[in-house]
Amino acid sequence: MLMKYERQQIVDYCKKMTVDHLTSGTGGNISIFDPLTGFMAISPSGINYFETKQEDIVIMTLDGQIVEGKRRPSSEHNLHIALYKKKIDISSIVHTHSMYGIVLSTLNLPIKAVDYILADAGATEVPVAPYATFGTEELAQSVANTIGEGRACLMANHGMVTCGKDIESAYNLARECEWIAEIQWRAMAVGVPNIIDDTEMRNVMQRFNDYGQPHNRKEVVYD
Ligand SMILES: [Zn+2]
Repeated sequence: MLMKYERQQIVDYCKKMTVDHLTSGTGGNISIFDPLTGFMAISPSGINYFETKQEDIVIMTLDGQIVEGKRRPSSEHNLHIALYKKKIDISSIVHTHSMYGIVLSTLNLPIKAVDYILADAGATEVPVAPYATFGTEELAQSVANTIGEGRACLMANHGMVTCGKDIESAYNLARECEWIAEIQWRAMAVGVPNIIDDTEMRNVMQRFNDYGQPHNRKEVVYD
């Protein structure tokens, strides 16, 4: 079985995505890319996350060919492929249908720097990709053309996508972005939130790069 370890990671994180309220039902999807083989492991289409097993994960190339797996791959496999082609330094993608990210996307509002932790996305805001039908190449290109320098993007009237050097990094960023989207929404319900300016956000990004132990920065613990 190809990518056995990565398959299990996808199974585990898909369940976590539901438990952490980042999606509901069979919405959302997760992939891991191995740059050495050029293979992408991706969650299957329309299978309950709590019933998904290692053998249900589909292995594909970035040309869209199925290498191993009996299931149909996630309907958003084109989105994952487009982002791996666009960003050569990422190895995992998490696509969520999370409440506050979707709320802001329906208002065409980027996630703004209402909290300094947004710097972990590698950009001063999380942009909104224009709406396109789910599962289409048009949606994949909309996100690829919008995401810019950062590792996160909202998808109008649909959800959010985050990228990382590994699944833990991509998943943690999805949780952070959803949390900040909720802060932004709650602040907007009361007044006009203060937004941290771009210069300070660049400063925070630099400090994040230097944070933690040298060469062993697995996960940032924020003070
Ligand atoms: Zn979706």
